[in-house]
Amino acid sequence: MLDSSIFVELKASGNLPSPRGSALKVLDLCQRDNLTLPELIHAVQVDPAMVGRLLKMANSAAFGRPRPVVALTPDVLMSIGIQSVRQLVLAFSLVSGNRQGQCADFDYEAFWSRSAATGVAMQLLGAATRAAPPPELFTVGLLANVGRLALSAIHPLAYGKLLQQVGGRLGNGLTALEEHAFGYSHAEVASAMMQDWGLPRLFCDAVLRHEQPDADGPRRDSRSAQLVRCIHLASRLAELCFVQGEERRAGFLELLPLAHELEIADGNLAKLGDQMLSEWKEWSQLLEIAVREVTPFTALNTAVQQVGESVGECRKLSVLVIDEDAAAAERLKLLLESGGHRVNLAQGGHDGLVEVLDRQPQLVCVDLCADLDRGLELIRTLRQTELGRSVYIMVLTRPDDDERLTMALEAGADDYLDKPVVPKLLDARLRAGHRMIREQQLLRLEQETLRRRLLELAITSQHAREAALTDVLTGLYNRRHAIDRLKQEWAAADRGMRPLAVLMLDIDYFKAVNDSHGHDAGDEALRQVADTLRAISRMSDVVCRYGGEEFLVIAPDTSLDGALQLAERMRSAVAQRNLALATQCVKLTISLGVAVKGDGISGAERLLKAADDALYRAKQYGRNRVESGP
Ligand code: GH3
Ligand code: MG
Ligand code: MG
Repeated sequence: MLDSSIFVELKASGNLPSPRGSALKVLDLCQRDNLTLPELIHAVQVDPAMVGRLLKMANSAAFGRPRPVVALTPDVLMSIGIQSVRQLVLAFSLVSGNRQGQCADFDYEAFWSRSAATGVAMQLLGAATRAAPPPELFTVGLLANVGRLALSAIHPLAYGKLLQQVGGRLGNGLTALEEHAFGYSHAEVASAMMQDWGLPRLFCDAVLRHEQPDADGPRRDSRSAQLVRCIHLASRLAELCFVQGEERRAGFLELLPLAHELEIADGNLAKLGDQMLSEWKEWSQLLEIAVREVTPFTALNTAVQQVGESVGECRKLSVLVIDEDAAAAERLKLLLESGGHRVNLAQGGHDGLVEVLDRQPQLVCVDLCADLDRGLELIRTLRQTELGRSVYIMVLTRPDDDERLTMALEAGADDYLDKPVVPKLLDARLRAGHRMIREQQLLRLEQETLRRRLLELAITSQHAREAALTDVLTGLYNRRHAIDRLKQEWAAADRGMRPLAVLMLDIDYFKAVNDSHGHDAGDEALRQVADTLRAISRMSDVVCRYGGEEFLVIAPDTSLDGALQLAERMRSAVAQRNLALATQCVKLTISLGVAVKGDGISGAERLLKAADDALYRAKQYGRNRVESGP
C-alpha cells in the first residue's frame, strides 16, 4: 500500500494523470446530493464524444435492451446508474487527455489499447461471474494499469530506462523493477489514484492486488478475491492481444487454470476472448485508439486442445490436400472427413504455398504423381519458412517408385502413401503422424515456457545485481559502486591514455532543510537534487550518491575544461531549480570540487582526495561555487 504522504507528494507535483475539462464538471455534479438528471445530461452533452461512449455502454449486451437507445435521456442515465456514469466519464476523460506524454519509451497508444481490451474483458468476465455491475467493471479494467501511465509521467527518464530493460513488456518483471527503483509499484499508485477519485474501496483494493491473485488476502471465495482474479485474468487476456505465435498459445494455456477458478470452462474462455476482440474493436473506434487485428482465440484454442490430448489417440487433424487431380483430391477429402479430420483442398505451386501459410494446417498431403518437380519445389520452399518447418508433410506417390520417394524424403517430406490410398493404411499413417505432430507441439510449448522463465529469471537476477549497486533513496549508484567504478575507469584511462575527471559535490547548508522542514522533506529534496544531476549529466558520466548529501560524478574522457563546464552546469541547474517539498518550495545550492587525472596524482584514491580538497575550498570560499585541484 502506498504511503499516503508519498501520494500527497506525487499529487502535489502536478504530474499525476487526472481528468480534465468538461469531465470535471460532470464528476463534481455526480457528487452532489441535489443533482438533477437534466443538469447532468446538459453537462455531459458539452462533449459529444462522451455522449457516444455512454450510449455505447447503455447499448451493450449487459443491459439486454430490445432496441438500441439513441439519445441520452434521464431513463438511460438512470439505467446505467449515476455512479457508473461518473466512473465512465472519469475514465474516458483520462483516455482523451493522456494520449501522449513525456516518457519517450512509453507506448501511449498501445497502453490505452491494452487498457480498453482489459476493460472489455472485465465487463465480459464480470457478466459471467457477477462480481459487480458491468459498467463499473469496465472502468476498473480500463484503469487497472493507470499506475504505469502515472509512473511514466512522474519519472519519465527513469521509467523509460526500466521499460528498455524489459523490452517494453508490461509484466511482473517491470513491477519488480518499479518497486526497486521508486519504492512503490504501478499497482500501488493506481490504487491510490482510484481512491482519490472516489472509486469504491473494493475496486481500489482489488487493483492493488491484481498482479498476485494468489497472495494472502481475503477468503478465496469472497467477492473481493473474485474481483482480484477477474482483473488479473482480464489484464492477461488483454496482454495476449499483443503477442503472437507460440508465445500467445503458451500464454493462453496458462490462463485456463485461472479461468477454472472463476468457473469458466476451457472452451468458454476462448469464446469470451473472441467476444472481447469484437467489443474491443468497437470501443477502440469510439475511444479513437488504433484498432488491432488479432487472430481469434477460438482458433488458438483448437491447437491447444490438440496438444492436450492423450498419447496414442488419433484425434482430428487439420489437413490440406494439394493435388492437381480434382477428383482424386475430392475422394481423399471424403475419406479424411469420414475419420473426423478437417480438410481443405488446394492447387499445387504458389497457390498451395499461400494456402499452407494462410491456413496453417497440421498436416499437408502433397500429390507427386502429376507434377513431380512442382511438388518437390513446394516442399523445399515450405521447409525454408518457419511455419513450413513445423508442418507434417505426407506425399502421395505411385507404388514402387523408389526414385520419386527418395527425392521427396530428401526435399523434406515426413512420410508417404501410395496411390490409390488404402483407407486402413491412411488411418494408421495418420496416427503415427499425429503422434509426431503432438510431440513437436509439446516441444515448442516447452521451449516457449522455458524462454519465458529464462527471461523472467534474467530480469530478477539483473534486478538483484542492480539492487546491490543502487542507492535506494535516489536511484543513483551507491558508494560501493562509485569506488569500484572509479578504479575501473582509472585503469581504462591509463590503458587508453585518455583523460578522466571526477566531481565531488556537497549540498550547502543541508542540515537547515531537515531542521526547518523535517527529515522526509530533506529526503525529497535529496531525490530532486539527484534527479537534476542525472538530467544534466551525459550518458557516459557516472553519477553516484557518495554519502548523506554528497555526490560523486565520474566523467570518463573528460579534460579539466570539460569537467569545469559540467560542474558549472550542475551548479547553476541546482541553484535555479525550485524543489517542491510537501508543504512548500525551497531552493538549494551545491559546492563542487573538480580534479582530473594528471601530474602528481598517482591513483584513483589520490584523485578522489584532490576533488575532496577542492570541494573543501569551495565551501571555505563561500559555497555555491566550483573549485578545482589539486
Ligand atoms: P555545508 O555542507 O554547507 O557545510 O552544510 P550542511 O548543513 O550541508 O553540512 P553538514 O554535513 O553539517 O550536514 C549534512 C546534513 O545532511 C546532516 C544530515 O542530517 C543530513 N543528511 C545526510 N543524509 C541525509 C539523508 O539521507 N536524508 C536527510 N533528510 N538528511 C540527510
Ligand atoms: Mg552539506
Ligand atoms: Mg556533507
